[in-house]
Amino acid sequence: MPEPTGDPNKVNPDDLTTLTGTCLCGSIRVTINDPDLFTRRRGHLCHCANCRKVAGSYVAANLLIENDKVEIEDKNGTLKEFKDTETISGTPLGRWFCSTCGNPIKSVVPAYGDKVVLKMGIFPRIPAPEFETFGSHRHPWQGLHENMEQYKLKAGGEKIEIPVARPNEQSVEDFPHNL
Ligand SMILES: [Zn+2]
Ligand SMILES: [Zn+2]
Repeated sequence: MPEPTGDPNKVNPDDLTTLTGTCLCGSIRVTINDPDLFTRRRGHLCHCANCRKVAGSYVAANLLIENDKVEIEDKNGTLKEFKDTETISGTPLGRWFCSTCGNPIKSVVPAYGDKVVLKMGIFPRIPAPEFETFGSHRHPWQGLHENMEQYKLKAGGEKIEIPVARPNEQSVEDFPHNL
């Protein structure tokens, strides 16, 4: 059997000054030009309802980054926008995805100006995230990430006190989703 692709452990972050990923069908290729992608924590995990729907999962891995560090090739012209009007702020945002394979690519939020939110699932290795948003909407079974702050809702808002593991209690190291 051929070796399955997609093992992030096979990607050496020291070799990466840019990071490239493609959608499932290969029509859309996204490149991030940023030498500090893996020199410090980058991006965040979001548990809000809309991010979960877009990710098709219990959490979304997002990276807010300057537009001019991001190149998007759309060779078959399949990049399409869904205007999401059901946002908590009430301000619509653009959720961009591949209209052939359905892969989420980015979100464009007017308030973020010259920055874009990349959906990180397409990349061969995702930088260790800095923090979690909508931590109050986390699923209870997923375990804690060490060294990651949680905001109750939006980034920069109220934080959640994360309990420190005590002797004889399950340590955060026992959870499978640790970095
Ligand atoms: Zn595609
Ligand atoms: Zn979200």
